[in-house]
Amino acid sequence: MSDLTIQHNVSLQTYNTLAIDVQTRWFALVSNDAELQNALQFVKQQNSQQSLQTKSSQKKCPLLVLGGGSNVVLVDDFPGLTVVLQTQGITIENETDEQIFLSVAAGENWHDTVMYCVDKGWYGIENLALIPGSVGAAPIQNIGAYGVELTQILSYVEAIDLASGELIRLNNADCHFAYRDSIFKGALKDKVIITRVVLALSKTPVWSLNYPALQDALSDHDIATLSSHTVANTVINIRNSKLPNPVDIPNAGSFFKNPIVSQQCYERIQQTYPNVVAFPVASASSNKQNVVQNNTQYKLAAGWLLDQAGWKGKWVNDIAMHDKQALVLTNPNKCSGRELLAFVENVVEDIHTKYGIYLEVEPRIYTAVSDGQPIPSISSTL
Ligand code: FAD
Repeated sequence: MSDLTIQHNVSLQTYNTLAIDVQTRWFALVSNDAELQNALQFVKQQNSQQSLQTKSSQKKCPLLVLGGGSNVVLVDDFPGLTVVLQTQGITIENETDEQIFLSVAAGENWHDTVMYCVDKGWYGIENLALIPGSVGAAPIQNIGAYGVELTQILSYVEAIDLASGELIRLNNADCHFAYRDSIFKGALKDKVIITRVVLALSKTPVWSLNYPALQDALSDHDIATLSSHTVANTVINIRNSKLPNPVDIPNAGSFFKNPIVSQQCYERIQQTYPNVVAFPVASASSNKQNVVQNNTQYKLAAGWLLDQAGWKGKWVNDIAMHDKQALVLTNPNKCSGRELLAFVENVVEDIHTKYGIYLEVEPRIYTAVSDGQPIPSISSTL
């Protein structure tokens, strides 16, 4: 039996890494499947009572699912139930001579899971050490770092379909993974809750060491004797040297995506800025605002664009871009979501003026709309 406690009017300040102080009308910490079912039942009841009273089909008790709150910007109070997923459990689902298929509950901490695999001698995940947040959120934006993306080690995702209440399974291809993107940000946005992720890990090394900072840091190591502990610890050291810990300085990691642009756009920028940092992109990744289809595409380093435009370390009204990494927006004085959005608009406008391209925001922005309709906002692009 589940004894889910649902609290009323709770601040989410300690449940988002930008430390924005918004209130949620209802709040629950969920640690097992039965509690999750109870939470969903609560939302259903609230909505059916509301629609009986108002004869309206509009949902007055929307659902917000949070893991670590490290990829959200909570702008306004949330009028529904916020569920923080804390489900636990790691089991081997299957194994072959070459691979381990590891089933991990959505509420497990991502970094702890990486280190668990590294300790066990399972490879492919080590470059993703120290990314904050939960396992269940990792497929949402296909987390990636140091040359590896989740898609490379994901077998399948299990989720609750909120319309039917059924458990569904999405294989890797079904997830439509792309650069910081997946079906969970598109057709399945707000339609499922991911309950379990199954990772496919290798029993032998599958190094991905071409990312420049990693390559430099490991240049003295002999690849024949390299261990996944060494790679993971190297990634951890690089990250600690560049990225602020949200516990000390509230932030949501990289705030902007690296824009993917057409060759023409890249060449135009290069004429004015010959040193612009960019990489050709082979995949069909797309950036909605800046891409011209069927051309060779280039991924521009958003950090370079921001740095050159003078945003690195720049403060405006208590909000700042980090002084060691221009891509990281920090909220040291715990300003409101509205103040933060005003700052972001400034940055986006300035970059557009200077380079003629729009930066896309990486974390999901949640705002209420004027008629009191529920968040979640659809677009994270300003
Ligand atoms: P949350 O912020 O809680 O949620 C994010 C979104 O996913 C929300 O819309 C939420 O509703 C939804 N969601 C969460 N869990 C579920 C679920 N179980 N089912 C359905 N929807 C769900 N990201 C990278 O890709 N690479 C990096 O290197 C990286 N570095 C970072 C460094 C720092 C310092 C910080 C603060 C963030 C960084 N991030 C990075 C971003 C973030 O860590 C990842 O996006 C992470 O996967 C978010 O996990 P979370 O549990 O905190 O998600």
